[in-house]
Order: sequence, then structure tokens, then C-alpha cells
Amino acid sequence: MCGIVGYIGEQPAYDVLIKGLHRLEYRGYDSAGVALLSPDGELNIYKTRGKVDDLERFCESKDVSGNVGIAHTRWATHGEPNDVNAHPHFSCSGRLALVHNGTIENYNVLKTALELQGCTFRSETDTEVLVQLIEYVKETNDCSLVDAVREALKEVIGAYAIAVIDVNDPDMIIGARKSSPLVIGIGDNETFLASDATPIIEFTNKVVYLNDDEIAIIKKGQPLQIISTDNRPAEIDIKTLRMSVSQLEKGGYPHFMLKEIFEQPRTIHDCIRGRVGSKGATVTLSGVIENKDRFLNAHRIIIVACGTSWHAGLIGKRLIQEIARIPVEVEYASEFRYSNPVLTDRDIVIAISQSGETADTLAAIQMARKCGAFVYGICNVVGSSIARATDSGTYIHVGPEIGVASTKAFTGQVTVLSMLALAIGQLKGSVKPGVAEEITSSLRRLPDLIKQALKLNESIEQLSGIYTYVHNFLYLGRGFNYPSALEGALKLKEISYIHAEGYPAAEMKHGPIALIDHELPTVVIAPNDELHEKIISNIQQVKARGGSVIAVVTKGDTTIADIADHILEIPEVAEPLSPVIVSIPLQLLAYHIAIKKGCNVDMPRNLAKSVTVE
Ligand code: GLU
Repeated sequence: MCGIVGYIGEQPAYDVLIKGLHRLEYRGYDSAGVALLSPDGELNIYKTRGKVDDLERFCESKDVSGNVGIAHTRWATHGEPNDVNAHPHFSCSGRLALVHNGTIENYNVLKTALELQGCTFRSETDTEVLVQLIEYVKETNDCSLVDAVREALKEVIGAYAIAVIDVNDPDMIIGARKSSPLVIGIGDNETFLASDATPIIEFTNKVVYLNDDEIAIIKKGQPLQIISTDNRPAEIDIKTLRMSVSQLEKGGYPHFMLKEIFEQPRTIHDCIRGRVGSKGATVTLSGVIENKDRFLNAHRIIIVACGTSWHAGLIGKRLIQEIARIPVEVEYASEFRYSNPVLTDRDIVIAISQSGETADTLAAIQMARKCGAFVYGICNVVGSSIARATDSGTYIHVGPEIGVASTKAFTGQVTVLSMLALAIGQLKGSVKPGVAEEITSSLRRLPDLIKQALKLNESIEQLSGIYTYVHNFLYLGRGFNYPSALEGALKLKEISYIHAEGYPAAEMKHGPIALIDHELPTVVIAPNDELHEKIISNIQQVKARGGSVIAVVTKGDTTIADIADHILEIPEVAEPLSPVIVSIPLQLLAYHIAIKKGCNVDMPRNLAKSVTVE
């Protein structure tokens, strides 16, 4: 959560920082701020509640000169989103400024100790303790800023990515991380610092990912230096990124979310490229081939994830069990990490996260590895913390996802999970005759099938007008599409703030059926599959109680067309891959309802794209 940008070089820092904040705004947007070291030796800090646009307005008549600065867009964890709690925070003397992503668990203890030493705190954040502590250490030990940061961080328990500047050391930015991401961009005579590479890519494609317990010393006109918190020089591993600026823009769409929904024919094509050939029924995943014995000897697979990725994990469970015949459990990473799980070296933990930075998933990975389990990551962001913390894995390769509500990452995750299931199944020889052919030919057809499903856009836009002002929605699905119902409901509540519940269709009888009346619409996911007849009965049960039904059906389904109020026809697809196609109308329905309600779909309230705090 929250985005950090830093710049030191020859350009006006303010312009680079503001542009960077806009790129990082998906990570948090309740307040924003900037600290600049001006050419006449002043430290100017401007911050305000609201979005980056509000910050720009706030800065209109201010002195924003200088070539060195740090900036922040916040997703509050401690203290309400207001001007005072916004970052950057500054030290008692006003000489140091700091931005932070993460949470400081022992901030109360540190705060009390610093108050006893005479420090006055201005905000309610956990962050302020960092800048006060660094100044306290610097002054009491009469040491450099780097040493003060290093010593101070020894006292800190929690997660952080920080950037600090000092008015007395105006040609330097210090960055440090533990469990929250920080990337350094190396340009010509300029250096960038950011929570991810998106603010950097426009200026340079040379980046260094800071590791946990490392401190970056970024000095104007000097090569980057990285040391560990115990003061040993660290290796500087410069990576070349292949991301392009156009991937980060809206490309003519009114919102990133819509752009990302419509990108899915291409993103799925990219996801399967090189993994499923144009002919044949084999899937090639290097992560599986290279770790053949681990997969052959696996007793159990545990999928850990959060939010949308957890829904993809539920589909993955069915895929892997059905095709590879290995028992699979799916856990919320935030519960798993504290559940004292019984893990052995015969277990495989699959961690799924779009950003690759999800704090709970990262912690679950660390725990699983300690217990000897083999950890396989499924991420989108190349070089992310999870990609680096796992033993092996598969990227979904769907390109940067900016819309806070995940769309193309979800379909990418399901696609990768289907390939993974088949790759493991082929290794074990457990794939039933015909299944590999069915899955691989469907994978090849997926981009085209998604294109067909996207043609529903206009009719869904019209339909959304009928349901804009309802207060509750029920989503029902069965089998492979029970998780699709959960995901459809999540999409709607995330961006339209309409309460929506996803349920296994047959379970409806054990509770939610009591809610059904003419004011509660039900979305029923009912493509042609093994349980088709059963789900028709579930639709009848809703209709019998006066509820209205929007049904997602396979093209040509006349039975459901006769009983449902509205039907959304999707093309025929192999059952295990149907969640990919089903998700298209569900994403569009959530999008259009939210737009009709006037909601900001790319930045829904209270949410942030990557959850890098507990
Ligand atoms: N804990 C800090 C705050 O509440 C930073 C939160 C974040 O990383 O978004 O301001």
C-alpha cells in the first residue's frame, strides 16, 4: 500500500515526483505529499488530504524548486487520512523528511521513549516515529544520516520501505526496506527511487531491487551504494526492464479497468505463449520441469493467496485435483501464516499474488520455506518480492495492472493454474485420455473466445441501468464456477459499493434463500456443464420466490432463456476453463453498474492495489 517516489538529478524534482505519484496512485490515494530541497537550502514540505490532483492544486502557488525530493501517496494504516497524517513526516528540528510504506509494530514503545527525551509528535501515524528516531540517533551520536538510519532501524519492528532526506546533506537520499518494496532506477546523472518501477520506466530501464535489510545511499553525481543494516557492502544487481510507458497509459479507454478488461484477448495470448504450442497437447512450464522430483513426490499442495488471487486459487484447487490428482487445500495467506500449519518437505505451497508484494502472502511463503516446503509463486510483476522469495514459479505475463479491481490478472492466474495442473498431471501420468487435448485446444482458443464474450459490452451497459440502485446482489455458481460467483460478487462490491454475496448455488437453500424477494437480483452462472440441470433447479427456486435472475449461459441455451429475466450468452468452452470466459460479463457488469452510480472505478474508496501491509 502507498506509493513512494524519490528523485535526485538535474530535472525539476517536483515534476518527476508528481508524475511518479500519479503512476503509483493505484497503491493508495487518501492523501499525498512532497518534500523538496530547494536551491537556497530550504526543505519545503507540502501535503494534503485527497488525491495527487489535490496536491498539485495545493502546490500551485508554492515554491517547488529543487532537483532533490521525495513524495508519497498514502493508504492510511495508523491515523485518519488528513493533512497532518499525510507523508512526508518531518523531524522535531524540521531538518529531516521521511516517507514510509508499511507499518511499525512497536511504534508506541518507541514514541513513548522519544517523548521522554523531549520529542514532540505532530501526527497519529506510526511513521512519524521513524523520522524522530533517526534524528534522535543522529544528534545523540553525532553521526552521519546513513549511520543514524542504520542504527535507528535496528530498534524498529515492522515492515517498511522508506526514503529520507536531510537539509544538511542536500545531495543525498537514503532508502531502506524490510518487507515493503523499493526499486532504484539508475539514469544518466540522475537516480530514482520508487515503490515499483512504474514511475521510473519513462526515464530509465535500469533498475536495482533493494532487498530486505538493505540501505541505499543515493548521492547526486555518484554511483549508487548499497549496504546492509549491519554495515556490509551489498551487491548491486542492475536489471533491465522490458516494460513500456504505453502499457501504463489508458490507451483511449475512460478507465484503466475497462482497458484491462478489453486487453484480455492479448494478455491471455501472452500468458500461454511459449507454454502451449500451436499444435500438440503438451504444456511446457520451466518451473515444473526444473523441479520435477518435487512435483512427483508431492503429498499435498497448499495454495495461499488473498482476495481475487484466493478465488483463482479455489479454481486452481479443482484443476489440480482433477487433472494432477494431488490433494489441494486453499488458504487465506493472512490466516495460514498464524495457523501453525503442519508442513513437511513433501508439501508444495503455491503462492498467488498479482503484485508479488502482498504482505500476508510473503509472510506465509517465508514460514512455509522455514518448514521445508517447496514454494512455487504465481505473480504478475517480474522481479517482485514474492517472485524473489519463492523457490520457483510462473509469471502470468499480463502486463501492468493499474485498475484497483483485478481483472486481467485474475484470468491470467486461472490460465496459469490450468497450465500448471496439466504440466504436473503430464509429469505424473495422471491425465485422463482426451483431457490434455481438450485443455490445450481450449487454451489456444481462449483469446478468441474472450473476444466473443467482450461483444456483450453494450448489452451489459444497458442492463446495468436497471440494477444501478439496488442495495444487494446474490451471485450463484457451482463446480468450477462457484469461485467465479465469489469473484463476480467481489468485483461488484469493490467498485460499486453494492453489497454482494457469492454462494455455491445449492447451498443457497441453507440460508441466503431467505433474502430473496423482488428487490434482490441474483446473478446465476450457468454455462453448459456437468451440473447444468442442477443449476436450472436453483434458478427455479429463486424465481419461485419473486427474485429476478441474470443468467450467464452458453450460447443457444433456450431452457434458461425461458426462465431467467436476462441472459448473457458466452461462447462454448471446456468446463475447466469456463471461469475465464464467465469472468468477462461479470467484470463488465460490475464496471457499468459502478459507472452508472458515479463511482471512481479505478480508485475505489478505502482500497489500494497491492496490500503491502498486514
Ligand atoms: N503506516 C503508514 C501510515 O499510516 C504508511 C501506510 C502505508 O504504507 O500505506 O501512514
